[in-house]
Amino acid sequence: MRLLVVEDDPDLNRQLVLALEDAGYVIDKAFDGEEGLFLGETEPYDAVVLDLGLPEIDGVTVLERWRRSGKVFPVLILTARDRWSEKVAGFDAGADDYLTKPFHTEELLARLRALVRRAAGHVTSTIEIGDLSVDTKGARAFINGSPLKLTSHEFRILSYLSHHVDRVISRSELTEHIYDQDFDRDSNTIEVFIGRLRKKIGTNRIATVRGLGYRLCDPASLDT
Ligand code: CA
Repeated sequence: MRLLVVEDDPDLNRQLVLALEDAGYVIDKAFDGEEGLFLGETEPYDAVVLDLGLPEIDGVTVLERWRRSGKVFPVLILTARDRWSEKVAGFDAGADDYLTKPFHTEELLARLRALVRRAAGHVTSTIEIGDLSVDTKGARAFINGSPLKLTSHEFRILSYLSHHVDRVISRSELTEHIYDQDFDRDSNTIEVFIGRLRKKIGTNRIATVRGLGYRLCDPASLDT
């Protein structure tokens, strides 16, 4: 899952990026409204953390412009304390959730997990695909209750596929959602990761749809 953090306070920006990376997300960061607006308009994010008080272009305007150009990614806004009118403006501009500064990192992580999975149509933090369960909170996966040993890249791929279960995901879409913008992207490496993942979770769980991409599915449901 790839997130964008737009926050002008360099310390808070760094803290957020570290905490989110620790939680297994890949992160792009921006330090002002203009940079944030541009990234949000050009890169596909699974969620965005947007401070409202930003230099260059304020957060509410950034959000309005994203929404006007059809961007539907979930947005969590960060607001200063006692600025209730800012929150209202943020929600009216298209925010999905908010946190008031200062906040606990754990709460931010929980809210983001909820936003990402709801955007993908899931209501709980564990996604079940037959006997495969993907724990998006603990960044772990299980088959029949037995934990799988996955690398962080393998988990990212499995997590993205499981959020979009039964949908065909192209290699370029996967690449865009599991690497940040600075990563030297090579879509061939996706194939390698998919190969390793298949060895660990069972070949028949990830179908290759020729020319289109990959689809995570429940092999038991295919037999019937
Ligand atoms: Ca600020």
